[in-house]
Amino acid sequence: MQNDDLIKRYYSQLLLDGMSVEKQKLLSKKSVTVIGCGGLGSPLATYLAGSGIGNIILIDHDVVELRNLHRQVFYCENDIGTNKVDVLAKYLKSLNSNISIQTNAKRSWDLVNKDLKSDLLIDCADNLRTSYSLNKVACEEKIGFLTASVAGNIGQISLFDNEKNHCCLECIFPKEGDMDGNDCADIGILGPSVALIASIQTSIAIDYLIGEKLHVNQIYRVDTKNFSIQKNKISPDSSCKIN
Ligand SMILES: [Zn+2]
Repeated sequence: MQNDDLIKRYYSQLLLDGMSVEKQKLLSKKSVTVIGCGGLGSPLATYLAGSGIGNIILIDHDVVELRNLHRQVFYCENDIGTNKVDVLAKYLKSLNSNISIQTNAKRSWDLVNKDLKSDLLIDCADNLRTSYSLNKVACEEKIGFLTASVAGNIGQISLFDNEKNHCCLECIFPKEGDMDGNDCADIGILGPSVALIASIQTSIAIDYLIGEKLHVNQIYRVDTKNFSIQKNKISPDSSCKIN
C-alpha cells in the first residue's frame, strides 16, 4: 500500500501516541491466528482487520446457531447453519481488501503446530482444553500467546511473549481438573460483557504487534458488572510442566 493510501485509510489511528506510518506498515506485515470465532473472536478479528493486520487466520469448527446471536452480533439469522469462519472471513474481506484472511473449520487441537503458527496466537475459545493446548504450542514455537476468557461478569486476559525466560498460562494456572467443564454459554453471559473483554484483548494484541511490551506476562481481571480492572504481574513457576 502506498503511503498516501495508508495515511488516508488509517489517519485517525496514526494520530495516536506510539503509532507511526512505520508501525502501520509493521502491522501490515504481521500474521495472527484467532482461535474461536464466537463472542470474543468475532469482534476481535473485525477490529484487527480494520486496524490493518496483514494476515488473519481464523480457526473455529462451529456453525452459527440461534443461541449464539444474543452475544455474537456479527452473525445474522440467515447465517444459522453456516461455518462461522466462512461468514466472518467474508465480512472481514469486505471490510479491508488490503489484508489476507485464511480459514480452517476445525478444532485447534486437531491441527498441527504449523497450521497455527503466526506472530501471535490469540485464544478466543470458550474451553480450557483449547487454552492449554494453545499455550503448549506457543511455548514450543516461541511465539506470543494472548488468552482471554469470560464467564458471568468476570473476564480474564493474559499475554505471554515466550521469548527469553519461560512464563506461561500453566505457571499461573497449573493444568488440573476437568478440561471439558462448562463453557461460558452454560454459566451465563451478556453480549456487552464479552464485547468489553474482546475490546481489551484486541487493544493488547495491537500494542504487542507494534512492539509494545507493557502487557507481557500480565493478567487482567475485569469485572464487567462493576467496571473494575485488576492488573497483576505473572511470575514464572520453575516447576511448570511446560518449562
Ligand atoms: Zn509455564
